[in-house]
Amino acid sequence: MTTGKINVSVENIFPLIKKFLYSDHEIFLRELVSNATDATLKLKHLANIGEAKVEYGNPIIEIKIDKEGKKIHIIDQGLGMTAEEVEKYINQVAFSGAEEFLEKYKDSAKDSGIIGHFGLGFYSAFMVAEKVEIITKSYKNEPAAHWTCDGSPEFTLESSDKTSRGTEIILHIAEDSLEFLEEGKISGLLEKYNKFMPIPIKFGTRTETLPKPDDAPEDYVAETIEVDNIINNPNPAWTKQPTELTDEDYKEFYRELYPMQFEEPLFNIHLNVDYPFNLTGILYFPKMTGDLQIQKDKIQLYQNQVFVTDNVEGIVPEFLTMLKGVIDSPDIPLNVSRSYLQADGAVKKISNYITRKVADKLKSLFTENREDFEQKWNDIKIVLEYGMLSEPKFYEKAGAFALYPTVDEKYYTLEELKEKTKDTQTDKNGNLVILYASNKDAQHSYIAEAQAKGYDVLLLDSPIISHLIQKLEADNEKLTFVRVDSDHINNLIKKEEETISKLSDEEKEKLKTELEGVISDKKYSIQLEALDSQSAPFVITQPEFLRRMKEMSQTGGGGMFGMGNMPEMYNLVVNTNHELASNILNSTDKSHQEAVVKQALDLAKLSQNLLKGEELTAFVKRSFELIK
Ligand code: ADP
Ligand code: MG
Repeated sequence: MTTGKINVSVENIFPLIKKFLYSDHEIFLRELVSNATDATLKLKHLANIGEAKVEYGNPIIEIKIDKEGKKIHIIDQGLGMTAEEVEKYINQVAFSGAEEFLEKYKDSAKDSGIIGHFGLGFYSAFMVAEKVEIITKSYKNEPAAHWTCDGSPEFTLESSDKTSRGTEIILHIAEDSLEFLEEGKISGLLEKYNKFMPIPIKFGTRTETLPKPDDAPEDYVAETIEVDNIINNPNPAWTKQPTELTDEDYKEFYRELYPMQFEEPLFNIHLNVDYPFNLTGILYFPKMTGDLQIQKDKIQLYQNQVFVTDNVEGIVPEFLTMLKGVIDSPDIPLNVSRSYLQADGAVKKISNYITRKVADKLKSLFTENREDFEQKWNDIKIVLEYGMLSEPKFYEKAGAFALYPTVDEKYYTLEELKEKTKDTQTDKNGNLVILYASNKDAQHSYIAEAQAKGYDVLLLDSPIISHLIQKLEADNEKLTFVRVDSDHINNLIKKEEETISKLSDEEKEKLKTELEGVISDKKYSIQLEALDSQSAPFVITQPEFLRRMKEMSQTGGGGMFGMGNMPEMYNLVVNTNHELASNILNSTDKSHQEAVVKQALDLAKLSQNLLKGEELTAFVKRSFELIK
């Protein structure tokens, strides 16, 4: 038996480890299962290259709880350690045997999936254990070793009579960590961190009912057997090649990832690179619902099939954090702070790669099956529009597949839209004016007026659309977007021909005075226009610029602070060529004239959805008066 001191420069590192190394004590299990996995993968590798003359077989890892003895056992059938190796790998804190292995077998083992590399994982055991034992037998023909340490820098190392190859770690759980002796707690941790690890992990047994034989007698009693309860799927979909997987496989894996999610994903993107960094994964586009915050942070980040976090901020571009799925990369520095992560060049490259890959996939979905893509557009647009606004590289590529639907559900790319509308919707100054509505029902009368003129009207209803419109206008010369209710249609797309006014200038002055006498609300500024006599006599409009700025500031527009609180301002466009204008002007019955003006204003409000409460009651009452 030897005794000795663990070789660390700080005299007593354990309290430090316990307090500061990992904020989450629960990760001890992840670390120890990772080491057991590494030990098994190393053996597999050595057997493959002929260095270990052993029968590799079908090794598993087992986790056992001994509630009475207050112990947790983690047992593997991996390569084990000789006493000398225990001295080297365990007693030297922060010396990683995993890194050494990868260095030694650089060429052949680079895809072996070995997890460790900091040389600190093992000591996380002391976050929950007051004493740790290692009983280990190497695949090399040497006696087994037994190492014990009670959390002080002193350890003991003696020989053991263990005969089977592999390592058993025994944790004597500390009084403040007894919760980890609960079966439910451990199975929860295994489910969270180890669900997709590459070596089968056994935790207890479960009963399985045998299938009923065909020749079963009448009084057949179902037979059950005890089988190992394997908690993981060692070959998750993302570790396979896209060519090996069907659509159904991808959906199946989605259900495995999100068992509580009943909605199917719209489509998936399989990520697979090995240069200049290593990354695999599958991203899913879910159906977006109203609350985007709830949808965030569903992507799981893995390192060699070990779960690390579901906060992928900085690794995945922000607009894609609304997707679901997994990303697995050994190249992401995991134990470092978030701010470092964001500045890290490799991480930036990963983020750019993901953006590019998503854009390419969208483009191919669009070209391969446009109809299907159009049908999914409304469910994905918010993510894509956000991406166009936040990632210049994505914006560039999105031109090819970003769609602009019309109110009657035709979908155009911006280029197609320009081509389609350039003859009809270019105004006298050569500006192409794109008309849009944000709500088909609320803006119905305005849409109808525009369509009567042969114009196309888009339906753009994302909450961030005003930002995107602003950007499209800035990037496309002589292109403007206006909402159909932002002015009278004749003013939205101004053409050469002027409608002749039926009223003289004096008559107009007089009409304006009469109207202002009745309409006292300062929210409405009266604007007389000589329009088509068939056009509506009173129309309420809201100037595009003001409304858009207001919307932008409400959805987080930098530099437009405060605009969201601006009062609503409207124009009341009065068509002086409509018969009603002349009637008001020539009315001799003052009280009737006043009622007519109020009635016309209310009707205009009604078609803008602005007539409510007391005003609505007054309107109904007045209407009955007028028709009686
Ligand atoms: P890392 O995994 O980053 O190398 P750890 O502190 O987790 O660092 O482990 C230190 C070393 O101890 C490992 O690299 C390995 O050589 C050895 N080791 C730990 N657990 C086992 C095990 N179950 N079987 C064999 N060797 C192990
Ligand atoms: Mg480790």
